[in-house]
Amino acid sequence: MNTAGMLEGKVAVVTGGTRGIGFAVVKKFLESGAKVALCGSRQETVDKALAKLTEMNPDYQVMGICPSLTDYSAVEAAFAKVKEQFGRIDILANNAGISARESIYDYDPDDFAKIMDLNVKAVFNCSKAAAPIMKEQGGGAIINTSSMVSITGQRSGCGYPASKFAVNGLTKSLARELGCDQIRVNAVAPGVTRTDMVAALPPDMVERLAATIPLGRVGEPEEVANVFLFLASDLASYVTGTVVSVDGATVS
Ligand code: NAD
Repeated sequence: MNTAGMLEGKVAVVTGGTRGIGFAVVKKFLESGAKVALCGSRQETVDKALAKLTEMNPDYQVMGICPSLTDYSAVEAAFAKVKEQFGRIDILANNAGISARESIYDYDPDDFAKIMDLNVKAVFNCSKAAAPIMKEQGGGAIINTSSMVSITGQRSGCGYPASKFAVNGLTKSLARELGCDQIRVNAVAPGVTRTDMVAALPPDMVERLAATIPLGRVGEPEEVANVFLFLASDLASYVTGTVVSVDGATVS
């Protein structure tokens, strides 16, 4: 589908943009005319992703940043750099995340803290750094990556669904708090999506998972990115405070 021009003149920051869903979002935003700051955890993976995008289209307006997302000052400084280079920030996709599988019996409390730090505190830090910039410009859109397990929980790795329930809480609360500044805040809740997270699972497990999905297959990162594009665009001008499922009706 040709989405060229849908985000013309907009500047987006995408965390966890080096691969998987985040990379698909970066690509979709660039194809749609936005300038994008791709945010990753390491300079090396950021550079690799930037090289891949430039090879796809040398005209893409994309820059790389890699602040520690759990450090508010580092995030604030990185966003200031984006504003300096691209002039504004209209869209923030809070997508970086890690998952967990451990049973509560084996769960290291430090690992629980680690997942909360990246999946929740980083969403808070990035939203806090972006909101004043968006407010000053007259508005913006924040889109958080949640998960289908934010509806159901899961049978192990309780830190992961707990973090995504918190993401939904931040989404709904910030939508109410920032609506008066014309900043919309929504979340996307993917089901099983074909990324490295899923590639790390045994193939028979992925097959069994697919069989339980009404659409009969796992989702593709681009299908999730399409919903990010809608929520980032002016087509969603009256949509805020929602968690949109993209899971083939697995739980939605
Ligand atoms: P992925 O592992 O392919 O990508 C994760 C991204 O997060 C990478 O770009 C990585 O660099 C970044 N990241 C990881 N640790 C980081 C850190 N400490 N600091 C900064 N960035 C860090 O995963 P994905 O499947 O594309 O997941 C993206 C988002 O989608 C996550 O929030 C995940 O919870 C969510 N999600 C994924 C699925 C799925 O089936 N793949 C389903 C539901 C939700």
